[in-house]
Amino acid sequence: MSPVSSEPALTLTPQTLVSMNPADGEPVGEIPVTPAELIPQMVRDARLAQRSWGAMTLEQRAEILKSAVPRLSEEASRIGELLTREMGKPKPQGVGEATYCAKGITDEVDAIVEALRSETLEDQSLRTTLRFDPFGVVAAITPWNFPLLMVFQSVIPALMAGNTVLLKPSEETPLVAREWVAVLNEFLPANVMQLVIGDERQGRALVQAPIDLVVFTGSREAGKHILKEASGSLKRVILELGGKDPMIVLEGADLDAAAAFAARNSFRNAGQVCVSTERIYVDDSIVEDFTMKLVEKATEMKLGPGMDPGVEVGPMINRGQKDHVLRQVEAAVREGARVLVGCHGPEDGGEGNFVPLTVLADVTHDMEIMREETFGPVACVMPVRSADDAVRLANDTRFGLAACVWGDAEKAEEVAGKLTAGMIGVNQGCGGADGSPWVGAMESGYGWHGGRYGHRQFCQVRTISRAKSSD
Ligand code: NAD
Repeated sequence: MSPVSSEPALTLTPQTLVSMNPADGEPVGEIPVTPAELIPQMVRDARLAQRSWGAMTLEQRAEILKSAVPRLSEEASRIGELLTREMGKPKPQGVGEATYCAKGITDEVDAIVEALRSETLEDQSLRTTLRFDPFGVVAAITPWNFPLLMVFQSVIPALMAGNTVLLKPSEETPLVAREWVAVLNEFLPANVMQLVIGDERQGRALVQAPIDLVVFTGSREAGKHILKEASGSLKRVILELGGKDPMIVLEGADLDAAAAFAARNSFRNAGQVCVSTERIYVDDSIVEDFTMKLVEKATEMKLGPGMDPGVEVGPMINRGQKDHVLRQVEAAVREGARVLVGCHGPEDGGEGNFVPLTVLADVTHDMEIMREETFGPVACVMPVRSADDAVRLANDTRFGLAACVWGDAEKAEEVAGKLTAGMIGVNQGCGGADGSPWVGAMESGYGWHGGRYGHRQFCQVRTISRAKSSD
């Protein structure tokens, strides 16, 4: 950070944030908090730096970002292990995330170069150039569940578009973000990418600062606050928020494949995934077989500290998240849900921050566990009488992130077309072909990421038109 020159010196209270290992409660490290009073100066520095960064060609920015790939790849094991210690996910997944956020830069920037090239539109009399210009200064605010991937998907498109970035990673995972940014900053000009460390207070200060675009990934509640806050000066916002994703299993589905997916997608990352399967609607005729297979899979998966070999599911990020999950389970059980495997509530909730993988039957749509995001390793199964019944229940939500339908491919795709979620998989998860956007509908998102249309949201679109007769 450059020194404050023309202003009186600020009185700053030094504070540090201690990052804890959710598997054993031990500190992983500490990091100085960014005083909120410094943020306006950081924005000014970012705006100055943006002039030359934004004046570069797309190809020049791409080259600079690609030059960081070998160093980031070299550091991927170290950064990935830190990710596991700080966030809790199994080490192969931590290292996998860090490796993707290194090597994946090359393909990502190539796709962005293609997406942001100027286009020409012509009619009989006019020629219009469509330009994708930078906004200026971007605030990227990210969550802890994919502590690098969420940073990557916010920061790389923002930088490629010619913006400079102030990144505020989650207070739960600041160390891993610091390491990734430090390597990237070996290659970027000064102040193109700055780090703001802190919690909600720093996030709020950043949104209030004179930045041009807020790229936020996190909870629906924080997203609503940001949208309201941004409205004062009509700051641009992109919000990727929470979900309550349904899975529909129709008669004729491959039950082994469906149950294996349900287990994987309900329990991976200890259920702390925005597109986790949180509600499962299964045709009456097959619900017993499906549930038996799901319970079998849940029993086979190994829960434990992410650094231990063979572990497939780690702990909850912190005590608060664990308590939230257990409270939802406890309330559901009190209201009639049946525990097929796992826990009933806080009394058998597991050691430390761990929550046993849990399958619930006899759930209803009056229960909070079927309406509000759980973000924990709990699979809830509900029988349905028909595909229409399943569609009605799946759409009975204010969320709209992802969904999936399992069954005969033709029939399943027809049912998929009736769902209100933004990303729907047929006999698979929600991920689309290369170039597909990551998009939440309704209260799960506002704007989207990825693909040609997603990358363009990091830009101000401008048109320059002139008469062909003037050529
Ligand atoms: P969170 O909203 O509590 O925090 C996210 C980030 O925002 C953190 O950096 C936090 O410090 C900051 N923040 C919190 N309140 C703020 C405010 N009022 N103003 C500005 N900044 C604020 O979310 P979390 O617990 O870190 O993450 C979990 C949530 O993220 C879940 O709801 C999950 O579904 C969602 N998520 C969504 C996606 C997606 O792609 N749609 C991806 C990952 C996570």
